Amino acid sequence: MAEKTIFKRIIDGEINADVVYEDELCMAFRDVAPQAPTHVLVIPKKEIASVAELADEDQPLIGHLYLAIRNIAKELGLAEGGYRVVVNTGQDGGQSVNHLHFHLLGGRALSWPPG
Ligand code: AMP
Repeated sequence: MAEKTIFKRIIDGEINADVVYEDELCMAFRDVAPQAPTHVLVIPKKEIASVAELADEDQPLIGHLYLAIRNIAKELGLAEGGYRVVVNTGQDGGQSVNHLHFHLLGGRALSWPPG
């Protein structure tokens, strides 16, 4: 069997994380190497490696994740100033953990384009 990703280990409670939100379908916790004053990762509990591995049946799950992101951003005080949601995908996208995750970044003005 393939080795568990670090995020699956967080879902299974094997590794601690600074969890800011959890429900039956997803979890959100603070990134260990924050790139902005607020940097949270929102992940599905279902094991999906990346955007590229999404199935058609995951459509409602992705909607659920985005509404969770909206709520978490509001809860953490980001809604007024704005924020960025980033999903790195694959090698060129800079993905380092092969479990789908949405970076929620805010608390400062973010530059564009990304590197
Ligand atoms: P990516 O490069 O898009 O795959 O993002 C993976 C993110 O996971 C990086 O921003 C890491 O800092 C973060 N990360 C790795 N391990 C942990 C962990 N144990 N707890 C929280 N964040 C983590």
